Amino acid sequence: MFLDLLLRQPCYVLPAFLYLCYLLAMQNIKDFTLKEIEQWLVSFEEKSYKALQIFAWVFNRGVGSFDEMTDLSKELREKLKETFSISKPKIFAIEKSKDGTKKLLLELEDKNYIECVLIPEEDRLTLCISSQVGCPLDCGFCMTGKSGFVRNLKLSEMADQVFAAQGVLSDNHKITNLVLMGMGEPLLNYEEVIKFLNIAIHQKGLGFAPRRVTVSTSGVAPMIERLGRETKVNLAVSLNAATDEIRNRLMPINKKYPLQILLDACRKYPAVRNRHITFEYIMMQDVNDSIKDAERLVELLKGIRCKINLIPFNPFPISEFKRPPEKTILNFQKVLLDNNYVVIIRASKGQDISAECGQLRGKLQG
Ligand code: SAH
Ligand code: SF4
Repeated sequence: MFLDLLLRQPCYVLPAFLYLCYLLAMQNIKDFTLKEIEQWLVSFEEKSYKALQIFAWVFNRGVGSFDEMTDLSKELREKLKETFSISKPKIFAIEKSKDGTKKLLLELEDKNYIECVLIPEEDRLTLCISSQVGCPLDCGFCMTGKSGFVRNLKLSEMADQVFAAQGVLSDNHKITNLVLMGMGEPLLNYEEVIKFLNIAIHQKGLGFAPRRVTVSTSGVAPMIERLGRETKVNLAVSLNAATDEIRNRLMPINKKYPLQILLDACRKYPAVRNRHITFEYIMMQDVNDSIKDAERLVELLKGIRCKINLIPFNPFPISEFKRPPEKTILNFQKVLLDNNYVVIIRASKGQDISAECGQLRGKLQG
């Protein structure tokens, strides 16, 4: 029936349709790891070492076409063209904050939207990357959690956030750090995330030093252990409470992996070359901001080499929480400082552009 209909259209419609199918059937080379490109080459008796050249063109130089891969033979380039596409990130909107933070809203092929945020600081320029469309974990304070879960991001969709963000910067500005702290829970998309991390820290890939890449998790304990075995990147944990009772209320994942299990996994996380785990603690008025909470935190984190980021809650339209007064935050910090913890109060960047996770996409969806 459909074919009948198609055949009765003007003569250019069928080829256009077929070409569209053909394009859709082609695989995006940015979804391939170095090993997978090697396997593809070997499958038709090409030399596997050429994989590194292709990999570098794609991830290091960020080329948009196979014709630019000038150190490959014409035949190989043709073969690549027949088999793969190279995606181009599509920026749907950009919001710029007074403090220099830029938030990019990207449109994916299936018309889903994700965010990434460029955060300039004194000596660095950090890109905050999303790992999922939405998030299944439904933390009470988080706009992404409130908007539900759609799907995991593919490797290419994480890499394209880096290319999109780098593309809006002037030539003398380079992204120096990556944090997987945007929309989604990276450790629930482990297979794609680990591929992305390996490409992020590969010298011929995106080329970041492992100490400049951080994965933030809400506490998927078994995956923390695996991440520690399989990469050298930094770990950040969204802790947000010092008792199971409060944490259960804020973060449903705590019912599955309560504090003791989570912190055991953190203790086992290899501290590579003096590195520390970062504990993120969003401060919410009358929820987790008392002196007693700070004292409990002191006890809880004993023996873990860590630093603590206190983040004043960033309100959004349907949120039920409030940011504590400045004095409360300072008093809380003092308890931790007096117990020799490294504690930073991290003012949320980009407040005038709703830069917290999920908020720009939230606005788009109304
Ligand atoms: N799912 C992972 C990855 C990042 S989530 C995790 O939970 O760690 C996004 C980050 O934004 C987390 O660090 C979270 O604590 C923070 N965040 C979410 N909503 C926030 C809000 N309303 N105010 C301040 N920080 C918020
Ligand atoms: Fe998901 Fe992290 Fe938001 Fe929780 S804080 S809902 S885990 S994105």
